[in-house]
Amino acid sequence: MNTLPPLFGVYKLAPKQIAYRQDYCIHCQCNRVAFLDRYWGILHIVFVPILPLGRVRSWRCSSCNLHPRLKAIPLDAWRVILAFVAFVPMTFAFWCMTPEPDTAETIWLCRGLLSVGVIWLAWWISGQMRAPGWVKQRAKEAGLVSTNICIRCGSGMVSTEPAHCPACGLERRES
Ligand SMILES: [Zn+2]
Ligand SMILES: [Zn+2]
Repeated sequence: MNTLPPLFGVYKLAPKQIAYRQDYCIHCQCNRVAFLDRYWGILHIVFVPILPLGRVRSWRCSSCNLHPRLKAIPLDAWRVILAFVAFVPMTFAFWCMTPEPDTAETIWLCRGLLSVGVIWLAWWISGQMRAPGWVKQRAKEAGLVSTNICIRCGSGMVSTEPAHCPACGLERRES
């Protein structure tokens, strides 16, 4: 086990499959069909709901249910994750303060430094999670799904942009 346990995640309320594509899943390490789900997302940290995210769409591997192109965060990144979890509420708190004439300079300095820190940490973490470039190419070459049959109900697809199934409404997206 060399990845971080899932300390945070997203609760998916009223999920609906809206599209599919052929993909390469970095968790299964092979080509898979992936579904695009639309749902009401709620961010949770250690299973405590924290923040409603509104209507969200995300891809999910049809076999392992994970995002096919997002890596788990490596365990040695835990310091950066902890810094991020600590910095976000701190930054928020500084932006909520009303600067008085004698404290304004300090507050604006803290706002600036913390904001830059949070953006850098988010960028670094997302870089850790991004799949290598060859994944997209492998996904295109998969040849898993027929171009004219709906993977969910077997009806003929209509070649609109993107192609869709007139019977169940599922769309087919490019890999
Ligand atoms: Zn998978
Ligand atoms: Zn269909």
